[in-house]
Amino acid sequence: MKTFQKRAFLIVLAGFLLSFQAPGAFGDDSGTAPPRKARNVIFMVPDGLGQANVTAARIFKNGLDGPPLNMELRTIGYQRNHSADSMITDSAAAASAWACGEKFRNREICFHAPSGRHKDSLLEIAGKKGKSTGLITNSEITDATPAAFGAHVPTRKCPKEIARQYVSVTGVDVLLGGGGSKFQSELPDQCGAYGDFLSLAISKGYAHVADRAELEKAVSAGKTKILGLFADSDLDFAVDRQHAEFEPSLSEMTASALRVLQKDPDGFFLMIEGSLIDKSNHKRDVQSQIMETLIFDEAVGTVLEWIKADPIRKEETLLIISPDHDTSGFAIIGPYKTLPRKGNVVVDGWVSDRHVASDPMVWSQGPGSLDLSGPAFDNTHIYKVVRDAMQ
Ligand SMILES: [Zn+2]
Repeated sequence: MKTFQKRAFLIVLAGFLLSFQAPGAFGDDSGTAPPRKARNVIFMVPDGLGQANVTAARIFKNGLDGPPLNMELRTIGYQRNHSADSMITDSAAAASAWACGEKFRNREICFHAPSGRHKDSLLEIAGKKGKSTGLITNSEITDATPAAFGAHVPTRKCPKEIARQYVSVTGVDVLLGGGGSKFQSELPDQCGAYGDFLSLAISKGYAHVADRAELEKAVSAGKTKILGLFADSDLDFAVDRQHAEFEPSLSEMTASALRVLQKDPDGFFLMIEGSLIDKSNHKRDVQSQIMETLIFDEAVGTVLEWIKADPIRKEETLLIISPDHDTSGFAIIGPYKTLPRKGNVVVDGWVSDRHVASDPMVWSQGPGSLDLSGPAFDNTHIYKVVRDAMQ
């Protein structure tokens, strides 16, 4: 790790250690079965997060015997995540299984190639019920995970077509993340799409914002359709936030989206992805992976605070936190014969620099969440639970 990165890491580290205690620790503590109907659905995806990532981040933030992370909700299940053509899934097939309720091949985005046969995604179902919709990520908004909820394309290598579909076909109300270059381009992607989809979005009524201040202004002004593109490609990694002055954090984007979406009397569907956990695991960078897990967990804290602010929200909001797959098989291999303390980075071991198979955890609370517990269900089961909860 370069010196300046190390310095930035230590500053961020200090920030986390000084930060407020986790809100809503232990999640849903009501002890009674929640009602079946979800007015709001918040689907949070820590991309590429394996269970040892949670352990390492919790030790770093809270110590060996400290409180749980925000994401560690009370209702726990786990899922089988193979794709239609591979034991090892990619993000496209895994997110498509959730979003559209069927197994897809790796790289497909809720689209069975070559026929194009597909069903509406959960986000589209929500939209047709009159709910507002949103997608947030800290990588490109056209990446596979958000794409599965807001587009249908034969391959994830069609980011420009995904951008076009977001704003002119699906009409996702709030889009916040990176990937600005995919909205204005002169070269076609694998679907043959290119062009000025930013102007197209503005013509469709979107407020376009490019930094934190503009986002705040649009939200305060009561805009209901916001396209926030805060970087040409990915947003900054937490260990090296060179654009911290301008780029909103995942938690800030989450808070902004909730302020917009909560106004809809019909409720909303919001997907929030912590995408850089996956990318840190691909790089086998333990410090970056811990910080990205905590950045995601901070966004979970923002969601839990929002839910807690109004008793009805807890009754009416289905919150799901689900990794799509493990990346690189991170394991904690030390320290031996000593106990790490709060602020310590555990000793890392890795089996790969690619996706590996294990059953990802599903944490949840709210209407329908009891159906997300028990022995490993298929990842398509989550689609059915969310769809039925929105009935
Ligand atoms: Zn993934």
